[in-house]
Amino acid sequence: MATVTFDHVWKRFGDFSAVKDLNLEIGDGEFMVLVGPSGCGKTTSLRMIAGLEEVSDGNLKIGDRVVNDIAPKDRDIAMVFQSYALYPHMSVYDNMAFGLKLRKVAKSDIDRRVKDAARILGLENLQKKPRELSGGQRQRVALGRAIVREPAVFLMDEPLSNLDAKLRVQTRAEIARLHQRLGTTTVYVTHDQVEAMTMGTRIAVMDKGELQQVGAPQDLYDSPRKLFVAGFIGSPAMNFVNVERDGDFVKGDGMAFPIPTRYRSGMDGTSTLVAGFRPEHLELGELPNSATIRAKADVVEFLGDEELLHVSVQGHEGDVVAVVSSENRVKPGDVLDLKLPLEKLHLFDQGTGDSVAWSQAAAAA
Ligand code: ATP
Repeated sequence: MATVTFDHVWKRFGDFSAVKDLNLEIGDGEFMVLVGPSGCGKTTSLRMIAGLEEVSDGNLKIGDRVVNDIAPKDRDIAMVFQSYALYPHMSVYDNMAFGLKLRKVAKSDIDRRVKDAARILGLENLQKKPRELSGGQRQRVALGRAIVREPAVFLMDEPLSNLDAKLRVQTRAEIARLHQRLGTTTVYVTHDQVEAMTMGTRIAVMDKGELQQVGAPQDLYDSPRKLFVAGFIGSPAMNFVNVERDGDFVKGDGMAFPIPTRYRSGMDGTSTLVAGFRPEHLELGELPNSATIRAKADVVEFLGDEELLHVSVQGHEGDVVAVVSSENRVKPGDVLDLKLPLEKLHLFDQGTGDSVAWSQAAAAA
């Protein structure tokens, strides 16, 4: 097993910087998810670990060794791609054994490793050809091929993208189980925040080549340091309202929120802000220490236990989204007083996009 360390790593393609000054330490045995929108630099970062892209500047380490100039085959990593890249004419067994044969691993050792991996992954008929397998089974063979290498680090690039929704959920759990069992350091790239939240020990959120925040899923959900992270993590996405400070309140778009005391000292000199609140934190009924948002229900989506409301607020362009218990039986056209507990209110500086709570903590540190 091994750590992976990005130490001021840059990747440039000509004048364009795809990865900018990345500093990230991935712990031994950790499952680190790199997540962000298309083009944010996550695949490029993964490919630098694999040695498929050169590092333009800075140092990349696997364990204690700087690997900038080490060939991919000597890095002790195994990669799983979105496309399974299996050899169509080879059996499942041979697909898994192939890399080991090239490395001249003893036949009995290959046989043991392939059979162990097949057992872990529940692959039964090892003589089948890839075309006889479902997409999910093929991806398991691709995982098996990585497992038999017994690498120090697994690198996975959107391995579930080609699977249908149900299989994706199943395979997601399988990969998580596999990681618990093998404990191998894993770096996993996805654009899907649900995958990131459910699989990662920690998540590194990237945007435009820059690391925005790294933390455990719950940290990112509870305490996003940046507007970008707040909007990217969580489903449905956080609601945002442009507001200005007015005494002990922030107000805008027909909404007013008392400023929680924890934010007050961090707000000196900042008057234009963005207030953020998650749909699932809005409630109906009486609630102490809350702000009230008067809204009209436009669309009600029944989800079973809960219902997702698209509501309009006078003065605010676009929807506000709320998720409330379906016991409320809201109907389109109903006028509602949605309550937001003040401890769930987030405030960001409109100019920098930084969380007021975070800049306050950073200034105090
Ligand atoms: P996606 O999910 O779409 O692959 P990503 O976050 O993984 O997105 P990267 O593939 O890392 O993004 O690409 C980051 C940026 O670098 C993109 O703007 C991309 O166009 C650019 N880029 C990647 N590879 C090259 C290359 N070989 N030459 C020039 N630009 C590149």
